[in-house]
Amino acid sequence: MEYIKHLEKIIEEQLARVERIKNSHGFTDFTNLDKIVIGIIDGDGIGPIILKEAKRVLNELLKDEISSCKIELRAIDGLTLENRIAKNATVPEDVLNAIKECHVLLKGPTTTPSKAANLPNIESANVTLRRELDLFANVRPVCIPEKNIDWVFYRENTEGEYALGSKGIEINEEISMDFKVTTTGGTKRIAKAAFEYAKANGNKNVSIVTKANIMKKTDGKFLDLCYQVAKDYPNIHVDDWYVDIMAANLVNEQIRSNFNVFILPNLYGDIITDEAAQIQGGVGTAGSANVGAQYAMFEAIHGSAPRMVADDIAEYANPSSILKAAEMMLRHIGYTEKADKLLAALNLAQANKHMTGDASGETAAAFADYVLSALV
Ligand code: NAD
Repeated sequence: MEYIKHLEKIIEEQLARVERIKNSHGFTDFTNLDKIVIGIIDGDGIGPIILKEAKRVLNELLKDEISSCKIELRAIDGLTLENRIAKNATVPEDVLNAIKECHVLLKGPTTTPSKAANLPNIESANVTLRRELDLFANVRPVCIPEKNIDWVFYRENTEGEYALGSKGIEINEEISMDFKVTTTGGTKRIAKAAFEYAKANGNKNVSIVTKANIMKKTDGKFLDLCYQVAKDYPNIHVDDWYVDIMAANLVNEQIRSNFNVFILPNLYGDIITDEAAQIQGGVGTAGSANVGAQYAMFEAIHGSAPRMVADDIAEYANPSSILKAAEMMLRHIGYTEKADKLLAALNLAQANKHMTGDASGETAAAFADYVLSALV
């Protein structure tokens, strides 16, 4: 039967991926590079608007490094909805090759074609990039000092429901099935990344979030392996929660500031981090890092906001999200001082510029002007 063959193929692909994880190489050492190439991808919808402001800020912040060729900001064209549809490819091959020539990426949001809009069934560009570049850790900080909130989410980025999201089966008109995958190597590396961060930042508490009571094989494995990794970090307090109660915990003012570092499988991480970003002031305020051993990609946590474009208010998009991502990128490549400078300017702009996401607030350009003026 066709679907049995399909299932066999999925299993073979996943077994091959397990081998690739086992053989993956060490982390890029940016201090050893003569030149760091930062690929800039504008994306769709509000992407080009917020990326334009990020480029202005980075060009100013890194002007010495750019003029001495220590850093190159390289435009990567072609990761647009139009080009992806024209080439019927999630990430066209020439674009992927250009991306692989960069060390790190600052990426605008990309639209995933939807069935409802009668567009071809192309996979999310992000899912493809995370898989192709093996960006296994999605790191999303949420910080609200006045509410005593200092959270960092380590979301597994290459497995769970998303890895096989476009490989489900329609068995017949009555039954559709999707698949979820958890591997030992994939789970251990995200857990290790989270515990290493917790240790490096003063042994913060680590909370594991699953639905292991229901998804016994995949989430059960994820939970067990996280506890196994935790044994290497005896000074760190670890607990575990089901994702539904964690969604409630984040809005529970009595307990939420007790949480520090979270480890979550892909889908729960996606949902919980949007909730956390909303508590911080909206998805327009939150950046994220997609980190692998060789490559890393930094982006806003939100999407291309097509409704803002349709309502003609795209210019009011908040560029804080992509600027926060740029700050994380600078930190990742070892430019800590520049990252601190950008963070300070960003905090000042957030305190002084009223961003509402519509004409009652400031534009992305006015916000970035303020950030530029505050870079000292
Ligand atoms: P979205 O995140 O694009 O937008 C939801 C709403 O959030 C917007 O209508 C707007 O009100 C608000 N918003 C988002 N960014 C903002 C900003 N910078 N400033 C102010 N307000 C902002 O979510 P969606 O509409 O569900 O998704 C749109 C498309 O983006 C879909 O095709 C989706 O697949 C894609 N997407 C891409 C990424 C990515 O590339 N990383 C992430 C999420 C969604």
